[in-house]
Amino acid sequence: MNYCAKCVLPDTFPGITFDEGGVCNYCRNTPIPTEEEKHEHLQRFEELIEKKRNPKGFDVVLAYSGGKDSTYTLMMLTRTYKLKVLAFTFDNGFISEQAKVNIHIMTDTLGAASFMFRPPFGLMKQVFGLAAKETIYSPKTLDRASSICTTCIGFVKAMILKTALSYHIPLVAYGWSPGQAPIASAVMQTNPRLQSISQRTVRDPLLQVAGDWLKPYFLNEEDLATPQERWPVNIHPLAFTKYDEEVILAKIQAIGWVKPADTDPNSTNCLLNALANYIHRQRFSFHPYAWEIAGIVRSGSMAREEGLGKVCQEEDMTMVRYAADLLGIDFPG
Ligand SMILES: [Zn+2]
Repeated sequence: MNYCAKCVLPDTFPGITFDEGGVCNYCRNTPIPTEEEKHEHLQRFEELIEKKRNPKGFDVVLAYSGGKDSTYTLMMLTRTYKLKVLAFTFDNGFISEQAKVNIHIMTDTLGAASFMFRPPFGLMKQVFGLAAKETIYSPKTLDRASSICTTCIGFVKAMILKTALSYHIPLVAYGWSPGQAPIASAVMQTNPRLQSISQRTVRDPLLQVAGDWLKPYFLNEEDLATPQERWPVNIHPLAFTKYDEEVILAKIQAIGWVKPADTDPNSTNCLLNALANYIHRQRFSFHPYAWEIAGIVRSGSMAREEGLGKVCQEEDMTMVRYAADLLGIDFPG
């Protein structure tokens, strides 16, 4: 397999072309945020926070997986910006035990409320089972993440927005790395029309397997009819702050976060990730984290060699089998 000379995208990545220097079209066409641009976004963000502080309740609901990026985001929101945070964790049935311990310790230490939300495992099993077996999403969606991750994130985004609307919380935060989401969306007003379109991507294919049992996890007509002024602003501050994995790990470890020993190298919280990656690589011949890691490498926050190591790494088959057994999936090998 050949890889771009600049980032880590392989020649199997959809739509990729290389110039004579071996640099891919995504590197040539993706603008890298300048320091000035980052500073502008930071200023906008800080102004927004002052405007949105909520005297009557929580200031922000954070999608909190207990992993390193969302823990670092929690640290920024509480320590740097002194916000009242509701840390929302979606328990998909595969959160590592160490990640759960991290969630309890970090929310206590940082003074955030922890909200653990766990759908019945039978429902998750149905949903992930379908995502693992069939191609239910558009190819474009699957360029960026595995079918299983896309499913889980769909639930998280819908549930967190439902939580913000029902508790009147003005901000929704994510710990997206600079490779997962562009700086242009780092501060973004939500609205019912876009939400209705985006939740269809995940909800509609799953309705066929889970029917009405799925409905409580997505926004319904009543939620979507909430007046515009009550819709929160989405923020993902890691897009405009300095992103360095080593520094992030050092900072959160200094306050008691412990790296789980049982997750795969691309995740610091989820035991389903190895199976998700394995299936994606079998089906599409590229790593589902390739897009994200390419973005981090391009932005200068990770050495290309380190990124290449991540996208070339094969899954630990013990972990793949562990998740497959829990989901009741037969897989070759
Ligand atoms: Zn490239």
